[in-house]
Amino acid sequence: MPSSSKPKAAFFDFACCEGCQLTVLQLEETLLDLLEHVDIVTWREVMTGESESYDVAFCEGSITRERDVERIKKIRETAGILVTLGSCAGIGCHNAVRNKWPVEELLQKVYGTEEVVSDAIPARPITAVVPVDYQVLGCPISLPEFVSVFKHVLTGRKYYPPNQPVCVECKLNDYLCVYEKGMICLGPVTRCGCNAICTSRGDACHGCRGLIENANLNAMVKVFTEMRKLHPIMDAVADRHRPTLEQIRRRFAVYNNWPELKLERGTTHGA
Ligand code: SF4
Ligand code: SF4
Ligand code: SF4
Repeated sequence: MPSSSKPKAAFFDFACCEGCQLTVLQLEETLLDLLEHVDIVTWREVMTGESESYDVAFCEGSITRERDVERIKKIRETAGILVTLGSCAGIGCHNAVRNKWPVEELLQKVYGTEEVVSDAIPARPITAVVPVDYQVLGCPISLPEFVSVFKHVLTGRKYYPPNQPVCVECKLNDYLCVYEKGMICLGPVTRCGCNAICTSRGDACHGCRGLIENANLNAMVKVFTEMRKLHPIMDAVADRHRPTLEQIRRRFAVYNNWPELKLERGTTHGA
């Protein structure tokens, strides 16, 4: 196929660690296969050239400044297809932690009394600013999911991020539930698609792919803080840790800050 007949793809980054782009590079030989189907015209992390014209935009990071809003809108106008890469772009991730404080207070903390001109705004995911066509979640993204989304883009098929909890992948793989080790895991309310990579290595899920739809956070809070004698594993966790509501809120807030989570009991998130 002649090069000119391929769709043109561009990679862009906003506020983030750029780890998701780096993860794409780890595809190595698979990346060469993908490049047979697209021409990369802009990718600051790996090449010097750039183009104002592209068909597919892969966008990483969060929107944190007024100028970011203008930039992502321009990208949206140019690209026929916009794909977000990673949880900074999809759910705000670590960037949105700062939204607990007013921007002016943060600027004062960083710059002190120095006069500073800033267009900083509360951090938000790209998905909160422009419509997106595809999302690859995770911090960082899962490479098999990226390849799958890439194929969906090329073939014009819709992609729906999985909406089951990480526990499903844990069970399918027959992994030991970390609650059995007295650890607290956010897998029951976190969107799967990573093949439960953290729990496969004995760690807990920290919720990096965001919440499943209608996640019953309050049931989790209740289990951690109140329930006793329902299940020996839960009792063991409660005996060892017994987290406060604030500690649970902080656990969620590593990744899930947009919109601000309401952990009061009696409602379900997104309901
Ligand atoms: S989602 Fe995580 S790995 Fe990806 S850019 Fe954001 S902070 Fe980095
Ligand atoms: S380890 Fe976490 S994700 Fe896996 S089954 Fe237990 S609670 Fe669910
Ligand atoms: S197990 Fe949880 S924290 Fe780990 S990659 Fe999957 S969603 Fe993210």
